[in-house]
Amino acid sequence: MTVISSNLGYPRLGEHREWKHLLEHFWQGKLDEPEFHATAKRLRLTNLKKQRDLGTNLIPVADNSDYDHVLDTLVAFGAIPARFGRFDHRLSLTDYYAIARGTKDAVAAEMTKWFNINYHYIVPEFDNVHFQLLDNRWLRYYQEAKTELGIDGKPVILGPVSFLKLGKRAGQPLTAAEIAALLPRLLPLYVQVLQELAAAGAHWIQLDEPTLVQITRPAELEPYTEALTALHTAVPAIKIELQTYFDSLDRYEQIVDLPVQAIGLDFVHDHGENLQHLRDYGFPADKILAAGIIDGHNVWASDLHAKFALVQELQTLTAPDHLWLQPANSLLHVPITTRNETKVDPVLLGGLAFADEKLRELSWLTTAANDGVQAVQAAFDANQTKLAALNQSAHRNNPAVRAAEATLKTQRFERQAPFATRIQSQHARLKLPLLPTTTIGSFPQSPTVRAKRAAWRKGNLSDRAYQDFLHTETKRWIKLQEQLGLDVLVHGEFERTDMVEYFGQKLTGFYATQNGWVQSYGSRGVRPPVIFGDVAYTEPITVAASVYAQSLTKHPVKGMLTAPLTIINWSFVRDDVPKARVQNQIALALRQEVLNLEKAGIRIIQVDEPALREGLPLKRRHWQAYLDEAVYSFKITTSGVRNDTQIHTHMCYSNFGDIIATIKALDADVISIETSRSHGEMISAFEQTGYDKEIGLGVYDIHSPRVPSVPEIEANIQRALRVIDARQFWINPDCGLKTRHEAEALAALQNMVAARDAIRAQL
Ligand code: GLN
Ligand code: ZN
Repeated sequence: MTVISSNLGYPRLGEHREWKHLLEHFWQGKLDEPEFHATAKRLRLTNLKKQRDLGTNLIPVADNSDYDHVLDTLVAFGAIPARFGRFDHRLSLTDYYAIARGTKDAVAAEMTKWFNINYHYIVPEFDNVHFQLLDNRWLRYYQEAKTELGIDGKPVILGPVSFLKLGKRAGQPLTAAEIAALLPRLLPLYVQVLQELAAAGAHWIQLDEPTLVQITRPAELEPYTEALTALHTAVPAIKIELQTYFDSLDRYEQIVDLPVQAIGLDFVHDHGENLQHLRDYGFPADKILAAGIIDGHNVWASDLHAKFALVQELQTLTAPDHLWLQPANSLLHVPITTRNETKVDPVLLGGLAFADEKLRELSWLTTAANDGVQAVQAAFDANQTKLAALNQSAHRNNPAVRAAEATLKTQRFERQAPFATRIQSQHARLKLPLLPTTTIGSFPQSPTVRAKRAAWRKGNLSDRAYQDFLHTETKRWIKLQEQLGLDVLVHGEFERTDMVEYFGQKLTGFYATQNGWVQSYGSRGVRPPVIFGDVAYTEPITVAASVYAQSLTKHPVKGMLTAPLTIINWSFVRDDVPKARVQNQIALALRQEVLNLEKAGIRIIQVDEPALREGLPLKRRHWQAYLDEAVYSFKITTSGVRNDTQIHTHMCYSNFGDIIATIKALDADVISIETSRSHGEMISAFEQTGYDKEIGLGVYDIHSPRVPSVPEIEANIQRALRVIDARQFWINPDCGLKTRHEAEALAALQNMVAARDAIRAQL
């Protein structure tokens, strides 16, 4: 009775971000294409060897990429948007990167979030598409692993249906009819890929169809059935592992009957449903269950005893020799190894597991399944001790946090008066003109800002000198904002790299990793903070910066905070307690910050919630709970202020028609939303539902370096004013300006103010 370990995908970045540097050096012209390929190959082989050394039996190949796996799929199958040229051969690297990054003549392909996690893929465009197999990359990488290392790998292929569903046609997701029409044209190419793999001796492929977790109606299964039947019939020599992840299967019974030899299920992020399906309906005796038992998008060590109990149950539910143990999803989404975290508290380190440590856990569990726990007793014991040490540590048992949490039971988190009353006192206190004008918070992070921060971090600039520099920058921008004619000013967020890190540094319970990089998109890595303990407020976070800025001007300066859910969504969050609990701890801490800002004389406080929508669960039935938790934690944070203190919030996405009720429920006095890229849509959403509070629909797109003209901005404002009363409307760009050059930001803001003045004159 043999259980084997299998992996789904390995991080690309490299332990020291070698891959990122490789890509960027190529873009900068420091390497030619052959040099690029030589290094890329070395990295691929290193990653494969590492997985083998860690005890992985079935190793994925072709999961590597030179940018993104969806881009790889579309270039392999010739689905290249026409603006990049016509191709009848494998693309050069330059042509490949043109699609991802754009050229001076062709805008880059769109990028969007990969399901509900913080990875972004290139969106295929299926307009006038002519599929042709330009490159059997799966064969190339299969052969490379075999020849160079003797590894009989498992090529990872994005399945045809998910590939089509992830793309667009005429800017819209494909309809079922469009999928049905395109699929038969695509399948012969998949068949060819599989035939060539079979001829090269491959046994297994991993066919990723993550969209299967979003299927609810039986009819939606048709394209998958058609595809898998076609592949199985044409290439019976290749065995298919049909891989799903990120949630459970609603159509479990039908999916496990599809003509494949193994089914990959997620037993971590499935709300317990996949296991329940197995218990209720059984699992086909002729198929392998590829069980995703290790969390592939968080950084925590598994409780090996608990996992082993699951493995034992899965053994009873599957036929002998028909169980594989896997991470629940590709390890692409976690950092590579904890061994470079040299400065971390050992108690925390004991609870961490990045990709390599997860593969090690998998091999221990596999050994335990095959040879009994005693074969890995030492590893299991050490795991137990380390987890207990972390759970019992002061980090996770903060009495002050327990006391604060107790107030959640007794307190209602509502503003004192309803909006209609509050807004009167706010107007009386703030005395803002009609169409008040502001920005979203950040100003350009110039090379000087970044250089000073880097010098300060390295210890080459004293705290004092750095503080002085931040003050100078804020002072300069307060002047600029006054000169521009803005009404509500901001300090500029020069002290922050992003929206979370700075807060993590000031609250307890956060750990900033040294090397915990994960790929966000292309060569871009992020290092999400690790929330490992109870979150407590120990000192003011933003008060000094806001108070300093306010001291320089008579205009109101907005305080600027990141809301709890956004902090959660952009961090690795402890998994020993429910997420909502951590979220509320953050909210309780930020509530104190809000009150301290108010006490210090700040009259407007903006609490940004840009990640609310992107974190929505994959299945609609889980939305409400998620949104309710978001509203609750936002209100814990903001409800303590006086009636005449104005609460703002900001969100950066435009398609929010389906969560408009949530936006209203936040009860913020003013909301600013990114809209300039889909103005019409947003406005019609308001036409339908109305909005009773104040609102700023971004009047120009900050994501582009192009400076919008005055008439263009005027038109955007006019359009909004057709559905929103001028007395409710704010004028602002649609997001923060930190990525813009100073000259661009100033020119655009100048035009925005000019447009406002033109409209004010007509009112
Ligand atoms: N206040 C933040 C900024 O201006 C908001 C950023 C965001 O919405 N992502 O940068
Ligand atoms: Zn934004």
